[in-house]
Amino acid sequence: SETFQMKQILNDLGISEINEGTSTGNNIFASGEIIESFSPVDGQLIAKVKSTSKDDYQKVIKTATSAFKVWRTTPAPQRGDIVRQFADKLRENKQALGTLVSYEMGKSLQEGLGEVQEMIDICDFAVGLSRQLHGLTMHSERPGHRMYEQYHPLGVVGIISAFNFPVAVWSWNTALAWICGDVCIWKPSEKAPLCGIACQNLAAQVFKANQLPEGISCLINGDYSVGEFLTKDTQIPLISATGSTRMGKIVAKEVAGRLGKTLLELGGNNAIIVTPDADIKMTVIGAVFGAVGTAGQRCTSTRRLIIHESIYDKVKTALVEAYKQLRIGNPLDENNHVGPLIDTDAVKSYNNALQKVVEEGGKLVVEGGVLSGEGYESGCYVKPAIAEASPNFKIVQQETFAPVLYLLKYSGAVENAVEIQNNVAQGLSSAIMTNNLREAEYFLSVQGSDCGIANVNIGTSGAEIGGAFGGEKETGGGRESGSDAWKVYMRRQTNTINYTTKLPLAQGIKFDL
Ligand code: NAD
Repeated sequence: SETFQMKQILNDLGISEINEGTSTGNNIFASGEIIESFSPVDGQLIAKVKSTSKDDYQKVIKTATSAFKVWRTTPAPQRGDIVRQFADKLRENKQALGTLVSYEMGKSLQEGLGEVQEMIDICDFAVGLSRQLHGLTMHSERPGHRMYEQYHPLGVVGIISAFNFPVAVWSWNTALAWICGDVCIWKPSEKAPLCGIACQNLAAQVFKANQLPEGISCLINGDYSVGEFLTKDTQIPLISATGSTRMGKIVAKEVAGRLGKTLLELGGNNAIIVTPDADIKMTVIGAVFGAVGTAGQRCTSTRRLIIHESIYDKVKTALVEAYKQLRIGNPLDENNHVGPLIDTDAVKSYNNALQKVVEEGGKLVVEGGVLSGEGYESGCYVKPAIAEASPNFKIVQQETFAPVLYLLKYSGAVENAVEIQNNVAQGLSSAIMTNNLREAEYFLSVQGSDCGIANVNIGTSGAEIGGAFGGEKETGGGRESGSDAWKVYMRRQTNTINYTTKLPLAQGIKFDL
């Protein structure tokens, strides 16, 4: 019956056995190679997608460029109303889309639904924002002059996304880009192409119902080489790319080479500092969810716990106990805490991390292992593991996209913990568990965490859409979602208007003819 239910869901979302992977709205086509999407949940082939060829892409960029001419002149609050209708479409389809996310990507159903809720939330945020795309006014130094700045849409925005948030990341970008007057071309991860097709189908319904042209929302599919159509295209002023640091470095160079803009959301190596007077119960909940939620495949997953020596053993024991309660299995079954990794390559890098940490002198306090047998046929289910390690181990310095948690010990003042925390290449999310005001404020101060996200008494994982999301250093420096992140999707123009009959120059320069 589960298979039957999934067929129904795919049908409701407009997904067939073989799908055209290129779309400018209602116009769908593709002539590239076939991508097969297998579920990590049960190893079954869900459906196939025809990827985007270079010729297909040329049609897409042409359509998007001409759609931009219409969309940019549609008043921003009216664009907001389209996004409002899209949010309603997501509300109607939340169960179906959330289930597909869970089945194609492997996260728990609750998290799949949560991801769709995040899409709805960012749309709501964008609707309000569509009436608030404010610039500033300034006083001119010249008499009879007025100065102000305004924000105009950029053009075609290219979105490249990772497998682990196969729908939300797109909406964080599109909801804002659309109200800003931009049109979007999205290349989802080749590991979750059906999520992309489902989203595009829903968006297309809204644009069609409003008699808007093809090309405001476009989809292309394929691997990195299809991503390169976007990064190399001088007609695309902004590339928003979410994924590994490895990918970000290539994309940044490519786009910078043509002086385009990038918004990069790359890997993290997130830590929670556990201070002597931390609330242990809260710490354990935050750390366990942070480390094993989404099977450790969130960019904000907790990778490192930096624990004060005075409470180290207590925290370790509590964590080992908590890990005994974890149920690993089908993520569509609400009783399970941990679902599968995305694919068997991810299982390899999980195994590699466990091997490396031991080789470097670490000790596994919760042993890992790959599960087999009934319910684990996909070969993607692994046991969350905990290792005692040193901050400078090579493997601890890297992001392993799997449920492996490293316990690191610190002694003395909180400064020492912060130093360990910051001493990695990545700078996404960070947290401190403390009831000590001085420690909390130090952690948030200029000398404290160097991450884009710094939390007190909550974990590293997950964020609300109201704040700007992103991180420093090798995380790429981009910010998306809330606060003033919208500004990256627009170009700023400074305007000076002279309403006199004289032409005074700035800085008092005289130029008499
Ligand atoms: P990935 O880098 O393998 O792929 C991400 C996307 O980039 C895919 O769509 C891929 O096809 C594309 N791509 C790869 N090379 C490219 C190239 N040279 N040119 C153009 N496109 C290219 O990442 P993944 O395995 O899908 O995702 C996991 C990674 O994403 C982790 O490192 C995680 O931390 C990161 N991530 C970061 C955030 C964030 O907001 N900071 C959010 C989610 C995931």
